[in-house]
Amino acid sequence: MREIQVNEISKIIKKLSMEASTIANDQLIKKIKESEKIEKSSVGKAVLKQLLENFKISKTDKTPICQDTGFTVVFMEVGQEVSFVGGSLQDAVNKGVSEGYTEGYLRKSIIKDPITNPKNTGNNTPSILHTDIVPGDKVKITLLPKGGGSENMSRIKMMKPADGVEGIKNFVIETVKNAGGNPCPPTVIGVGIGGTFDYVAYLAKKAIMRDFGDRNKDKQIAKYETEWLEEINKFGIGPAGLGGKITSLDLFIEVYPRHIATYPVAVNIQCNANRKKSIVI
Ligand code: SF4
Repeated sequence: MREIQVNEISKIIKKLSMEASTIANDQLIKKIKESEKIEKSSVGKAVLKQLLENFKISKTDKTPICQDTGFTVVFMEVGQEVSFVGGSLQDAVNKGVSEGYTEGYLRKSIIKDPITNPKNTGNNTPSILHTDIVPGDKVKITLLPKGGGSENMSRIKMMKPADGVEGIKNFVIETVKNAGGNPCPPTVIGVGIGGTFDYVAYLAKKAIMRDFGDRNKDKQIAKYETEWLEEINKFGIGPAGLGGKITSLDLFIEVYPRHIATYPVAVNIQCNANRKKSIVI
Protein backbone atom coordinates (compact mmCIF):
# COMPACT_ATOMS: atom_id res chain seq x y z
CA MET A 1 0.00 0.00 0.00
CA ARG A 2 1.35 3.46 -0.91
CA GLU A 3 0.80 5.99 1.84
CA ILE A 4 0.13 9.64 1.01
CA GLN A 5 0.09 12.24 3.77
CA VAL A 6 -3.02 14.38 3.51
CA ASN A 7 -1.01 17.54 4.15
CA GLU A 8 0.60 16.89 0.73
CA ILE A 9 -2.89 16.97 -0.75
CA SER A 10 -3.58 20.32 0.95
CA LYS A 11 -0.44 21.82 -0.59
CA ILE A 12 -1.36 20.56 -4.06
CA ILE A 13 -4.94 21.82 -3.81
CA LYS A 14 -3.72 25.24 -2.64
CA LYS A 15 -1.38 25.51 -5.65
CA LEU A 16 -4.01 24.27 -8.12
CA SER A 17 -6.61 26.71 -6.71
CA MET A 18 -4.32 29.67 -7.27
CA GLU A 19 -3.14 28.56 -10.71
CA ALA A 20 -6.53 27.52 -12.07
CA SER A 21 -8.02 30.96 -11.39
CA THR A 22 -5.14 32.99 -12.80
CA ILE A 23 -3.42 30.95 -15.54
CA ALA A 24 -5.59 29.96 -18.50
CA ASN A 25 -4.71 26.49 -19.73
CA ASP A 26 -2.67 26.27 -22.94
CA GLN A 27 -5.36 24.28 -24.73
CA LEU A 28 -7.93 26.98 -24.11
CA ILE A 29 -5.61 29.70 -25.40
CA LYS A 30 -4.92 27.64 -28.55
CA LYS A 31 -8.62 26.99 -29.09
CA ILE A 32 -9.58 30.65 -28.70
CA LYS A 33 -6.81 31.66 -31.15
CA GLU A 34 -8.14 29.15 -33.69
CA SER A 35 -11.70 30.35 -33.10
CA GLU A 36 -10.68 33.96 -33.68
CA LYS A 37 -9.51 33.00 -37.16
CA ILE A 38 -12.78 31.19 -37.96
CA GLU A 39 -15.16 33.77 -36.46
CA LYS A 40 -16.84 35.88 -39.16
CA SER A 41 -18.47 38.51 -36.96
CA SER A 42 -16.21 41.49 -36.29
CA VAL A 43 -17.71 41.94 -32.80
CA GLY A 44 -17.23 38.22 -32.12
CA LYS A 45 -13.62 38.45 -33.25
CA ALA A 46 -13.04 41.46 -31.00
CA VAL A 47 -14.46 39.59 -27.99
CA LEU A 48 -12.17 36.61 -28.63
CA LYS A 49 -9.21 38.97 -28.93
CA GLN A 50 -10.15 40.56 -25.60
CA LEU A 51 -10.33 37.12 -23.98
CA LEU A 52 -6.78 36.39 -25.15
CA GLU A 53 -5.62 39.76 -23.85
CA ASN A 54 -7.34 39.05 -20.54
CA PHE A 55 -5.55 35.66 -20.23
CA LYS A 56 -2.23 37.43 -20.81
CA ILE A 57 -2.89 40.10 -18.17
CA SER A 58 -4.13 37.65 -15.56
CA LYS A 59 -1.05 35.43 -15.97
CA THR A 60 1.41 38.34 -15.77
CA ASP A 61 -0.32 40.16 -12.93
CA LYS A 62 -1.44 36.97 -11.13
CA THR A 63 -5.00 38.27 -11.09
CA PRO A 64 -8.13 36.15 -11.63
CA ILE A 65 -9.26 35.45 -15.21
CA CYS A 66 -12.76 36.30 -13.96
CA GLN A 67 -14.04 37.95 -10.78
CA ASP A 68 -16.23 34.90 -10.10
CA THR A 69 -13.61 32.40 -8.95
CA GLY A 70 -16.26 29.74 -8.58
CA PHE A 71 -17.31 26.83 -6.44
CA THR A 72 -14.23 24.59 -6.16
CA VAL A 73 -15.03 21.18 -7.61
CA VAL A 74 -12.31 18.54 -7.17
CA PHE A 75 -12.23 15.24 -9.01
CA MET A 76 -9.86 12.56 -7.72
CA GLU A 77 -9.07 9.29 -9.43
CA VAL A 78 -7.63 7.35 -6.54
CA GLY A 79 -5.60 4.19 -7.09
CA GLN A 80 -6.94 1.43 -4.86
CA GLU A 81 -3.41 0.75 -3.60
CA VAL A 82 -3.25 4.21 -2.04
CA SER A 83 -3.89 4.93 1.62
CA PHE A 84 -4.34 8.53 2.79
CA VAL A 85 -2.79 9.07 6.21
CA GLY A 86 -2.53 11.90 8.71
CA GLY A 87 -6.15 13.04 8.76
CA SER A 88 -9.33 13.36 6.74
CA LEU A 89 -8.97 13.68 2.95
CA GLN A 90 -12.02 15.94 2.68
CA ASP A 91 -10.64 18.26 5.41
CA ALA A 92 -7.26 18.35 3.64
CA VAL A 93 -8.90 19.37 0.36
CA ASN A 94 -10.85 22.12 2.12
CA LYS A 95 -7.69 23.34 3.86
CA GLY A 96 -5.96 23.64 0.48
CA VAL A 97 -8.91 25.55 -0.98
CA SER A 98 -9.08 27.88 2.01
CA GLU A 99 -5.36 28.69 1.85
CA GLY A 100 -5.33 29.05 -1.92
CA TYR A 101 -8.30 31.41 -2.00
CA THR A 102 -7.03 33.45 0.94
CA GLU A 103 -3.40 33.81 -0.15
CA GLY A 104 -4.35 34.21 -3.80
CA TYR A 105 -6.88 36.98 -3.01
CA LEU A 106 -9.53 35.03 -4.90
CA ARG A 107 -13.18 35.91 -4.36
CA LYS A 108 -14.93 33.81 -1.76
CA SER A 109 -18.36 32.92 -3.09
CA ILE A 110 -19.75 30.19 -0.83
CA ILE A 111 -22.54 30.85 1.64
CA LYS A 112 -22.95 28.46 4.55
CA ASP A 113 -26.68 28.03 4.74
CA PRO A 114 -28.36 28.13 1.34
CA ILE A 115 -31.77 29.14 2.72
CA THR A 116 -31.98 30.76 6.12
CA ASN A 117 -28.60 32.37 6.79
CA PRO A 118 -26.80 33.41 3.63
CA LYS A 119 -23.50 34.20 5.39
CA ASN A 120 -20.24 33.81 3.47
CA THR A 121 -18.00 31.03 4.85
CA GLY A 122 -15.09 33.41 4.22
CA ASN A 123 -12.67 30.95 2.60
CA ASN A 124 -14.59 29.46 -0.35
CA THR A 125 -15.13 26.16 1.46
CA PRO A 126 -16.59 23.64 1.52
CA SER A 127 -15.44 22.31 -1.82
CA ILE A 128 -17.16 19.52 -3.71
CA LEU A 129 -15.06 16.35 -3.85
CA HIS A 130 -15.77 13.51 -6.28
CA THR A 131 -13.69 10.34 -5.99
CA ASP A 132 -13.35 7.45 -8.41
CA ILE A 133 -11.51 4.36 -7.23
CA VAL A 134 -9.27 3.01 -9.99
CA PRO A 135 -6.56 0.32 -10.21
CA GLY A 136 -2.96 1.23 -9.29
CA ASP A 137 -1.14 3.43 -6.79
CA LYS A 138 -1.43 6.86 -8.40
CA VAL A 139 -3.83 9.73 -7.73
CA LYS A 140 -5.04 12.09 -10.44
CA ILE A 141 -6.37 15.35 -9.08
CA THR A 142 -8.35 17.78 -11.24
CA LEU A 143 -9.51 21.06 -9.79
CA LEU A 144 -12.29 22.93 -11.53
CA PRO A 145 -13.47 26.30 -10.18
CA LYS A 146 -17.07 26.48 -11.47
CA GLY A 147 -18.62 29.89 -12.05
CA GLY A 148 -22.20 30.63 -11.07
CA GLY A 149 -23.31 32.17 -14.37
CA SER A 150 -22.75 29.08 -16.47
CA GLU A 151 -23.86 26.72 -13.69
CA ASN A 152 -27.21 28.56 -13.54
CA MET A 153 -27.83 27.81 -17.21
CA SER A 154 -27.24 24.05 -16.76
CA ARG A 155 -30.25 21.72 -16.85
CA ILE A 156 -31.33 18.18 -16.03
CA LYS A 157 -34.34 16.22 -17.29
CA MET A 158 -35.75 12.77 -16.69
CA MET A 159 -36.94 11.94 -20.18
CA LYS A 160 -39.09 9.05 -21.29
CA PRO A 161 -37.35 6.18 -23.08
CA ALA A 162 -39.78 6.80 -25.97
CA ASP A 163 -38.25 10.27 -26.45
CA GLY A 164 -35.20 8.53 -27.85
CA VAL A 165 -31.93 10.13 -28.86
CA GLU A 166 -33.82 12.76 -30.88
CA GLY A 167 -35.54 13.94 -27.68
CA ILE A 168 -32.18 14.07 -25.89
CA LYS A 169 -30.63 16.07 -28.72
CA ASN A 170 -33.52 18.57 -28.73
CA PHE A 171 -33.19 19.05 -24.96
CA VAL A 172 -29.43 19.67 -25.20
CA ILE A 173 -29.79 22.13 -28.07
CA GLU A 174 -32.74 23.99 -26.52
CA THR A 175 -30.83 24.31 -23.23
CA VAL A 176 -27.89 26.01 -24.95
CA LYS A 177 -30.19 28.13 -27.15
CA ASN A 178 -32.26 29.34 -24.19
CA ALA A 179 -29.10 30.13 -22.23
CA GLY A 180 -28.09 32.68 -24.89
CA GLY A 181 -25.29 34.94 -23.67
CA ASN A 182 -25.88 34.21 -19.95
CA PRO A 183 -23.24 31.48 -19.50
CA CYS A 184 -20.49 33.73 -20.94
CA PRO A 185 -19.88 32.10 -24.34
CA PRO A 186 -17.89 30.70 -26.01
CA THR A 187 -18.85 27.78 -23.82
CA VAL A 188 -18.01 24.12 -23.43
CA ILE A 189 -21.02 21.81 -23.24
CA GLY A 190 -20.94 18.72 -21.03
CA VAL A 191 -23.73 16.21 -21.59
CA GLY A 192 -24.52 13.27 -19.33
CA ILE A 193 -26.86 10.52 -20.53
CA GLY A 194 -28.02 7.53 -18.48
CA GLY A 195 -27.48 6.41 -14.89
CA THR A 196 -29.76 7.89 -12.25
CA PHE A 197 -30.99 11.42 -11.43
CA ASP A 198 -27.89 12.17 -9.34
CA TYR A 199 -25.37 10.31 -11.48
CA VAL A 200 -26.34 11.95 -14.77
CA ALA A 201 -25.43 15.40 -13.39
CA TYR A 202 -22.05 14.01 -12.31
CA LEU A 203 -21.52 12.66 -15.83
CA ALA A 204 -22.26 16.06 -17.37
CA LYS A 205 -19.77 17.73 -15.02
CA LYS A 206 -17.18 15.05 -15.77
CA ALA A 207 -17.70 15.65 -19.50
CA ILE A 208 -16.53 19.28 -19.28
CA MET A 209 -13.16 18.09 -17.94
CA ARG A 210 -12.26 16.47 -21.26
CA ASP A 211 -9.63 18.05 -23.52
CA PHE A 212 -10.69 19.80 -26.72
CA GLY A 213 -11.18 17.33 -29.55
CA ASP A 214 -11.00 14.31 -27.21
CA ARG A 215 -13.96 12.49 -28.75
CA ASN A 216 -15.93 9.75 -27.01
CA LYS A 217 -14.46 6.30 -27.69
CA ASP A 218 -17.82 5.13 -29.02
CA LYS A 219 -17.95 6.19 -32.68
CA GLN A 220 -21.70 6.88 -32.71
CA ILE A 221 -21.51 9.05 -29.59
CA ALA A 222 -18.45 10.83 -31.02
CA LYS A 223 -20.57 11.58 -34.10
CA TYR A 224 -23.32 13.10 -31.91
CA GLU A 225 -20.70 15.27 -30.19
CA THR A 226 -19.60 16.87 -33.46
CA GLU A 227 -23.12 17.05 -34.97
CA TRP A 228 -24.74 18.67 -31.92
CA LEU A 229 -21.85 21.16 -31.62
CA GLU A 230 -22.36 22.15 -35.25
CA GLU A 231 -26.09 22.69 -34.67
CA ILE A 232 -25.41 24.86 -31.61
CA ASN A 233 -22.95 27.01 -33.54
CA LYS A 234 -25.61 27.76 -36.16
CA PHE A 235 -27.72 29.82 -33.71
CA GLY A 236 -25.51 32.90 -34.02
CA ILE A 237 -25.30 33.53 -30.25
CA GLY A 238 -21.54 34.05 -30.63
CA PRO A 239 -18.81 35.18 -28.23
CA ALA A 240 -20.26 36.98 -25.18
CA GLY A 241 -23.69 36.51 -26.78
CA LEU A 242 -23.01 39.44 -29.12
CA GLY A 243 -23.45 37.46 -32.31
CA GLY A 244 -21.20 35.18 -34.29
CA LYS A 245 -20.57 31.58 -35.16
CA ILE A 246 -18.46 30.58 -32.14
CA THR A 247 -21.05 29.95 -29.43
CA SER A 248 -19.47 26.76 -28.08
CA LEU A 249 -15.90 25.53 -28.37
CA ASP A 250 -16.68 21.86 -27.91
CA LEU A 251 -19.32 19.41 -26.73
CA PHE A 252 -18.62 16.20 -24.83
CA ILE A 253 -20.98 13.35 -24.01
CA GLU A 254 -20.50 10.87 -21.15
CA VAL A 255 -22.86 7.91 -20.95
CA TYR A 256 -23.76 5.21 -18.44
CA PRO A 257 -26.25 2.30 -18.53
CA ARG A 258 -29.82 3.30 -17.62
CA HIS A 259 -32.91 1.69 -16.13
CA ILE A 260 -35.37 0.43 -18.78
CA ALA A 261 -38.00 2.93 -17.59
CA THR A 262 -35.79 6.05 -17.49
CA TYR A 263 -33.74 8.22 -19.86
CA PRO A 264 -31.92 10.83 -17.74
CA VAL A 265 -30.07 13.68 -19.44
CA ALA A 266 -28.06 16.55 -17.96
CA VAL A 267 -26.37 19.51 -19.60
CA ASN A 268 -23.58 21.24 -17.71
CA ILE A 269 -22.41 24.46 -19.34
CA GLN A 270 -18.86 25.69 -18.81
CA CYS A 271 -18.00 29.33 -19.54
CA ASN A 272 -15.17 30.84 -21.57
CA ALA A 273 -12.86 30.89 -18.53
CA ASN A 274 -12.91 27.06 -18.70
CA ARG A 275 -10.68 26.80 -15.65
CA LYS A 276 -9.22 23.42 -14.78
CA LYS A 277 -5.87 22.17 -13.58
CA SER A 278 -4.75 18.56 -13.20
CA ILE A 279 -1.85 16.74 -11.64
CA VAL A 280 -0.94 13.08 -11.19
CA ILE A 281 0.94 12.09 -8.04
S1 SF4 B 1 -19.86 32.27 -15.97
FE1 SF4 B 1 -17.60 32.15 -16.03
S2 SF4 B 1 -16.90 33.93 -17.22
FE2 SF4 B 1 -19.06 34.27 -16.64
S3 SF4 B 1 -18.96 35.46 -14.74
FE3 SF4 B 1 -19.11 33.30 -14.14
S4 SF4 B 1 -17.01 32.57 -13.95
FE4 SF4 B 1 -16.93 34.50 -15.06
